[in-house]
Amino acid sequence: VRERADPVRPEEVNVLATDVLIIGGGIAGMYAALKAKATGANVLLVSKGPIGRSGGSVFAGTLVAYMDPTWLGYERVPNPDEKLTHLDKYYYLMDGPHLVRSGEFIRNHLLGELEEMGLYFLRLPDGRVIHNPTKPKHTWTPKMGMSGRAIGDLLRRHVLDAGIPVIEEAMATSLIATDGVCGGATVLNFVTGDFFAVHAKNTILATGHANYLSARSTGTREVCGDGIALPYRAGAELFNLEMQEWHVTDMAWPRAWTRLHIYPNPLPVTRETARLVADDRVLFEQRTIPRINKPYHYQHKRLYQHAVASGKHYEDYKWGGYFSDLRHVDGFIQDAYSYQTQFPRKLGIDPTTQLVENAPSYHYIVGGVWVDFPTMGSRTVERLYAVGGAAGRDGQTDCMFDAHVAIASIRDRQGDQELPDLDVRRVHEERDRVCRLIESAGEDGIGPMEVKNQIRDVMWRGMDYVKTEPKMRQAHDELEEIREAIVPRMRVQTRTRRYNTEWVDALDVFNMLDACQLQIRASIERQESRGPFFREDFPYQDNENWQRYVIVGKSDSSVAVRHEPIVIDGLSLPAREDFLVQ
Ligand SMILES: Cc1cc2nc3c(=O)[nH]c(=O)nc-3n(C[C@H](O)[C@H](O)[C@H](O)COP(=O)(O)OP(=O)(O)OC[C@H]3O[C@@H](n4cnc5c(N)ncnc54)[C@H](O)[C@@H]3O)c2cc1C
Repeated sequence: VRERADPVRPEEVNVLATDVLIIGGGIAGMYAALKAKATGANVLLVSKGPIGRSGGSVFAGTLVAYMDPTWLGYERVPNPDEKLTHLDKYYYLMDGPHLVRSGEFIRNHLLGELEEMGLYFLRLPDGRVIHNPTKPKHTWTPKMGMSGRAIGDLLRRHVLDAGIPVIEEAMATSLIATDGVCGGATVLNFVTGDFFAVHAKNTILATGHANYLSARSTGTREVCGDGIALPYRAGAELFNLEMQEWHVTDMAWPRAWTRLHIYPNPLPVTRETARLVADDRVLFEQRTIPRINKPYHYQHKRLYQHAVASGKHYEDYKWGGYFSDLRHVDGFIQDAYSYQTQFPRKLGIDPTTQLVENAPSYHYIVGGVWVDFPTMGSRTVERLYAVGGAAGRDGQTDCMFDAHVAIASIRDRQGDQELPDLDVRRVHEERDRVCRLIESAGEDGIGPMEVKNQIRDVMWRGMDYVKTEPKMRQAHDELEEIREAIVPRMRVQTRTRRYNTEWVDALDVFNMLDACQLQIRASIERQESRGPFFREDFPYQDNENWQRYVIVGKSDSSVAVRHEPIVIDGLSLPAREDFLVQ
């Protein structure tokens, strides 16, 4: 990309052409890049943060390995309900066959491939892979709490070694779709200040989950809902946006450690698990309910129930006041196998003898582009694919499976594919939108970071764990107020194009507003409670009416909401279950 003389709004926009454009450099995007390159395609990877070091991937603690128990010396017990077990992780709002294929791919192919690439699985001195006695499907690389970092570093090295063109710290600002076909994207390289377009035969969205939409959050600064806002504006439908996950036992303080998780999940080697404690009462302990796939929403439910039973409010615990108790867990196991437990010590807290204070953090949305699961292609915009968090999946290995599927389906089609049209008028409109944000730099106004924090505060108050329709509508109205009254007054401080991160923050504001408002629309629509989604005004899981996807899309200038039933063979759930006694 050539560097041009300063005009804030360049007259010409450079266009790069490629076979496969990958947007996002987390685990899903990097794995997609490697697989696409192996098919002989030209690949370009653009990533808002450094590849392998941004988004959610770096924080993943446990490798979900779906291991064959015989590898660990157990008898393999056939599980005719495997599909249902996987689906439980998504509260029965996911495609069952896709999840089964994912598990098989990970067990039979991916684990071996990653080990050959150089990944170290945590092992005992005799060579056996370390596991949890009750959940042999989990493993760790190289320690609990560091698995994402290890895989991120590994894939980063392989992507760079493979000579795949990568532009880091480059934000896709829009997807360019014409007549329902995606022709590529516009990108702002905020290191050089260059705005350019990528004309691609196929575009893969790997922008991860939308995390940083609320005051406390588990994601890095890049993940501001781009993977929701960009495809929405390009005409793609999205699903499951209301399914917001939370971490309940993240460190309460210091503030910068909001995403530091004291895992309630099964630990290496031991049957013991962390206890969630408030006011001298144990509220939750995973080991007592081994069937639970994801403990976080059970923790949240118990915390809410405890607040109500003690005459308090859930809000009383939003910034702390409850704890993780690891005192019963062998100190050697904590030190040798877990990365996290060293951190309390830096604050003078010894987790083998003291409690660690926690607070909830907005984790991520397990919803995204409404894809056709056998191809991972958008059902509404051709040549657009979504993988990993951007497609509503979670878990590193499952996200890699999505990438594998997308590349396999592109490979099958790309032979006779021409470049689709690229709407140059749209590219120029987007250049104008992006550049306008620094043309007014230096004028009196409100800084983009302040606007982002205002949005996060609205979400923190109005879209917390305990939802009601009036509260959500108020949050929606407050966001609209920010959009109409505050955003026009938003100003960055300087016109410089180089490393102007405020410019990126300003772009984030628009994506966050769209993502948050879409999430609120979907949440108001679902009139029941399920998994991490709790509506105090509908405190029951209504399988009869809500065993269905909520799908949002664009209709002219407004949001269109529709439903699609989910039919799962062999699944028989009661018509209605009391959410709070589940
Ligand atoms: C705190 C935490 C703990 C977790 N624990 C576990 C665990 O124990 N086990 C497990 O399996 N999973 C865990 N997960 C989930 C797992 O890490 C994610 O599901 C998975 O890594 C998502 O991968 P991804 O590649 O889809 O997205 P990400 O890793 O989020 O990557 C997204 C990428 O997109 C880039 N990007 C975003 N917007 C743009 C844009 N506009 N233009 C260009 N690039 C963009 C980002 O910079 C980033 O590189 C955890 C996640 C978090 C946050």
